[in-house]
Amino acid sequence: LKNWNQIPTAPPDKILGISEAYVKDSNSQKINLGVGAYRDNNGKPIIFPSVKKAEGILLEKESEKEYTGIIGNKNYQSIVRDFIFNNSNKDANGAKLIKEDRIVTAQTISGTGSLRVIAEFLNRFYDSKTIKVPKPTWANHVAVFTDAGLQPEFYNYYDVENNSLDYENLKKSIESTPNGSIVLLHACCHNPTGMDLSNEEWDEVLQIITKKNLFPLVDMAYQGFALGNPYKDIELIRKLNQLVVNDELKSYALCQSFAKNMGLYGERIGSISIVTESSEQSVAIESQLKKLIRPIYSNPPIHGSKIVETIFSNENLYNSWLNDLDQVVGRLNKVRDQLYQKLDKSNYNWDHLTKQRGMFIYTGLSKDQVIKLRNDYSIYATEDGRFSISGVNENNVDYLANAINEVIK
Ligand code: PMP
Repeated sequence: LKNWNQIPTAPPDKILGISEAYVKDSNSQKINLGVGAYRDNNGKPIIFPSVKKAEGILLEKESEKEYTGIIGNKNYQSIVRDFIFNNSNKDANGAKLIKEDRIVTAQTISGTGSLRVIAEFLNRFYDSKTIKVPKPTWANHVAVFTDAGLQPEFYNYYDVENNSLDYENLKKSIESTPNGSIVLLHACCHNPTGMDLSNEEWDEVLQIITKKNLFPLVDMAYQGFALGNPYKDIELIRKLNQLVVNDELKSYALCQSFAKNMGLYGERIGSISIVTESSEQSVAIESQLKKLIRPIYSNPPIHGSKIVETIFSNENLYNSWLNDLDQVVGRLNKVRDQLYQKLDKSNYNWDHLTKQRGMFIYTGLSKDQVIKLRNDYSIYATEDGRFSISGVNENNVDYLANAINEVIK
């Protein structure tokens, strides 16, 4: 028996640890730029008005709290599948794959849960255990994949010296990946850099991926945050669907979350979709997903999926959700622009800020500068210089810009 006195204390989570330090700080001008969750112009978390209405409807109508299925119910699955792969009838290839029963969709415990489930699935049923992830990537990717038995390795993604995409080296490192490996792609609003590939760049990278027979695993946690509309942020999925329909790619998988684009963080609502080679394969894969999930958590929580189902089944609510999302993204873009305007550019090039999208800016500030911001100004961010832009608003943007201008002097 292991002596529990020998259990070492694990280090605190990098991002959540910052929030703890922020809470303890008594400076009234303190700013939390750590956690990637939306705040309004007063620095407060919100519930989307469309979500609040959907919850009102549920409160009236809901008559049971029964278990849902191991992978959620059929209505939720088909709503999500349609939303992502058919895009209001804008993607003929996705529609074809749906019609041919070649997309297995499961409700999961938000994005993290979907990543863990697909990682467990690939560990069981995919030959290669190597999964290439961008350098840098969301820290939890590496933890999730490692704990599920996969072996994460990095591909080049970002050029820290020049604050830009490291595109040539990105292609080279994917080119040198062993055939048949898994490759993780961020659908949009890359976390932490906010820097995405252009359509043309995706085309080139996807060519390498198909040539090398890699298995694309797409993580889409910020759908809608790049261009303010979920249907505009889905180019990568369209391209992958096209490749599958053209028989250039056999299959791929997609992890998705409503945490950010419906503001349903704590409801833990998301999905995994696996594009298969045939309807027969879909039957087998779906059954294996159930077999895999059942002994872990039996079935997912129901409140979030009911909110999603309610919003998608009511045109008014649906349109009001798209509007809510547009407002959220609009505020983030506005404040990003305001910050950019106020930054001192005489000795420091800030142009990368205007190219980054989503919830974060990847400032390029050094660890020492980030620590100085924390110690001297009570501005809290992760030491890699990633700032969650949702912590910025019209009341603190001057204070923040001034502090940054001081630490880069
Ligand atoms: N992927 C990425 C890139 C993320 O940034 C996040 C959230 N921080 C997730 C997945 C998962 O989030 P959740 O489990 O809350 O849906």
